[in-house]
Amino acid sequence: MKESYMNDFKEALKKENLKFTNQRYSILKFFVNNDGHYDCDDIIHYLTKNKIKVSKATTYRTLDLLVKYNFCSKMVLDDGIARYENKIDSNHHDHMICIDTGKIIEFISPEIEEIQENIAKEKGYEIIKHVHQLFVKKISKN
Ligand SMILES: [Zn+2]
Repeated sequence: MKESYMNDFKEALKKENLKFTNQRYSILKFFVNNDGHYDCDDIIHYLTKNKIKVSKATTYRTLDLLVKYNFCSKMVLDDGIARYENKIDSNHHDHMICIDTGKIIEFISPEIEEIQENIAKEKGYEIIKHVHQLFVKKISKN
């Protein structure tokens, strides 16, 4: 892991009056090393498998911190479960979610980005962030 991530992480923990622990560090490391979208239980499962004991409260609090300090982004789907993904090295993208399999497909569309910007601008606003989720179903071939 790049040293700057580590320093930023330590800095963020300090600001929140939280101690740097192996559990918290392992959660950061997990996201730096794994692409994809994970919920709190996925993280706990991964840590447990790697013999790192962590409570749900600590995991949630660490995830909140990672989001607050832009290490991760958080998305909540229809099922109400929050999923997190690495934001440090990842460019902005949107998500398509298959309603049958739950598969999350990422996409980037400069056209959509531009249209959104223009709509906001026409109304006198600038976009600070957006959440764009498409719920999809595979087209059956027959
Ligand atoms: Zn994503």
